[in-house]
Parts: sequence; structure tokens; C-alpha cells
Amino acid sequence: MELFKPLQELKDEKNITRLEQEAVKSEEEIERVRCLIIGSGPAGYTAAIYAARANIKPVLYEGLLPGGQLTTTTEVENYPGYPDGITGPVMMEDFRKQALRFGADIRWGVATKADLTVHPFRITIDEKKTILADSLVIATGATAKYLGMESERKFMGFGVSACATCDGFFYKGQDVAVVGGGDSACEEALYLSGLCRKVYLIHRRDELRASKIMQERLINKENIEILWSHVPKEITGNQSVEGLILTNIKTGKEVKIPIQGFFIAIGHNPNSEIFKEYLETDEVGYIKTKPGTSKTSIEGIFACGDVQDPHYRQAVTAAGSGCIAAIDAERWLSENEMP
Ligand code: NAP
Repeated sequence: MELFKPLQELKDEKNITRLEQEAVKSEEEIERVRCLIIGSGPAGYTAAIYAARANIKPVLYEGLLPGGQLTTTTEVENYPGYPDGITGPVMMEDFRKQALRFGADIRWGVATKADLTVHPFRITIDEKKTILADSLVIATGATAKYLGMESERKFMGFGVSACATCDGFFYKGQDVAVVGGGDSACEEALYLSGLCRKVYLIHRRDELRASKIMQERLINKENIEILWSHVPKEITGNQSVEGLILTNIKTGKEVKIPIQGFFIAIGHNPNSEIFKEYLETDEVGYIKTKPGTSKTSIEGIFACGDVQDPHYRQAVTAAGSGCIAAIDAERWLSENEMP
């Protein structure tokens, strides 16, 4: 099924007329590109490496946080190819340099608006420049939700983390806490229970939101203690996390637990805001892709990385999906004779 009309067929229609009028008004602010990549984590940069090597001339806009979520972590030890580990920011700089080496056009800028009802797809950058994209790769990632405490920000990367798979290893044999009551929190607590001496699961209610099977696994773990109806009040420590002050919301009493790691698992927000009125998403906003591909509900638009992945959220899975998106985009352009 044809999901959008080619540019030629839309010539007489209002939106293209408007678009062309704008082009006359301010030609330098409108640019046509073959492959537009939005987002600069492992998914976006990997898509840029593959797209540049396939000669589809990718233009990549880095977004608000160049390098993505990895730039907020310290050591990354689970990305294959770095036997001694590497910091998130340095790894992202390496990805970026590799994409530049093959000619990817990497730019500062944030996609602020999208019109995906026309082809080429129309994306506004920083509220002023318009990119007309023959193919579009969305790699805008997801943002972990945080509690909003001042101390949470202070210890980010020094005891506070939003990813147990990424950072749990650093707390081997130590005591840690996870906050949240959903599947992610349970999964993180279970993962950490295999590494740490003691894991506290802190939940604001007296019932978990997580699936029954997850709850059973959790309750059967001897080194996990659930602190029901508690909310974190303050993280304590000097250079790194040393403890957590909690409030029991039923009694108002405060307790302090000694921990070295604090994991926040209260959900993520996929960064799909400007696309979700056009593309199929799940109820949270994760962009749906056809299984085993990066194809979205609109032909010529591909999604990769955390914006379409509520489950794995790893740098290596994001990079793999970025590779898939670039290959899908290249094939789509050639099948549709857009040389
Ligand atoms: P979620 O289901 O939205 O759960 C978020 C949890 O954090 C809830 O328990 C919530 O408490 C708590 N929370 C939210 N804001 C909070 C705050 N400000 N202070 C304290 N607690 C707060 O998110 P998720 O666990 O990341 O899961 C997202 C989706 O992915 C779900 O559909 C889940 O089933 C799925 N998932 C599946 C798997 C799996 O199947 N293996 C693994 C991970 C995720 P309340 O319960 O009180 O609202």
C-alpha cells in the first residue's frame, strides 16, 4: 500500500505549494537530503557509519545531548571490542569520529517539528531550518525518568545509575538499592542480586506493578529485601553514595540504609514526541517496528535504538539496530529509484 504520495503528485496540493513558497522566501533554510538521521547515541552514529559507507550521504543531527545517554555514564565495560573498558563519552566520540571518517555530515541541531504526511519527509531543525528527507532514520533514544532529588543529580555516575546491566558490576559484593515497582525495577533487582551482597527494592506502594512471575522470582531471592510504602528522601555520601534516607509514607518515619549503589528504575520516556502523531507507537510512545527490521508504519522511515526498544536498551543492541536501519534505508532508496 502506498502510504504517502511522491512529491510530483503532490505539486498542486496545498502543503507542497506552501512548502515551495517558503523555499522561494528563504532558499538557504531548506535543504534536500537523501538520508536524514536524527539522534546521536550508538544507534544514530552506527546508522551514519553504515549509511556513509553505502554512499547515501547521511546528514545527522545530534540533538540536545550529543552522544546520548551514554554520555551520562562513566565506565562502559560490556561493549565488545574494548577489553579494558572505556568511558561512555569517549566511546561516543569514537563512534562520531568513525562516522566522520566516512563522510557523514554531522551537525548540531535539534529536530523540533515533523511533517511525515508528505514525501520527501519534512523535518524542522531548531524551529528554523527545514530538511526535506528522502529517507529518515529516527534514533532519538529514550530518557530515563528520575526522582528529581538534588542529591540524585550530584551522585549521577558516582553511585547513582539508571541501568543495572551497565553499572551493576561496579557494586559486586556491596549493598545497593533499586527504586520502582515495575518489571524494570524487579529485573534490575534480580540482576543485582546475583552480584551484590544485599539489594533493597524500594517501592512507594504496598503492591508491585510488575508481572506475577517477576514478583515470584523476586520474593524467592534471599538477598532482596522489599521496603514497601517507602520513598527516597536523600542520598548521602561525600565523593560517592554511602547511604539513603527513606520516608515511610504510611507512618511518616524516616529510615537510613547504608548502600553504595542506587539504581533508579521508575520507567523511561521514549523521545518520540514529534513523530508519534504519524507513526504507530505503543501506549507509552515507543515507535513500533516490523519485527526483525527497522521499518516503521510509514515506508521510508526507519527507527533504531531505544526509541523503539523498551526491553534491551544496551549500547550494543542500539548499535546493531542502527546498522539495520541504515541497511533498510539504503535498500529502500534503491528499490524506490532514488539514486
Ligand atoms: P513501569 O511499568 O511504568 O513502572 C514504573 C514503576 O516506577 C512503578 O512501579 C511506579 O510506581 C514507579 N514510579 C514511577 N514514578 C515514581 C516516582 N516518582 N517515585 C517512586 N516510584 C515511581 O516502568 P518499567 O518497569 O520501566 O516498565 C515499562 C514497560 O516495559 C512495562 O510495560 C513493562 O512490563 C515492560 N518491561 C518488561 C520487562 C520484561 O518483560 N522482562 C522488563 C522491563 C520492562 P506505581 O506502581 O506506584 O505507579
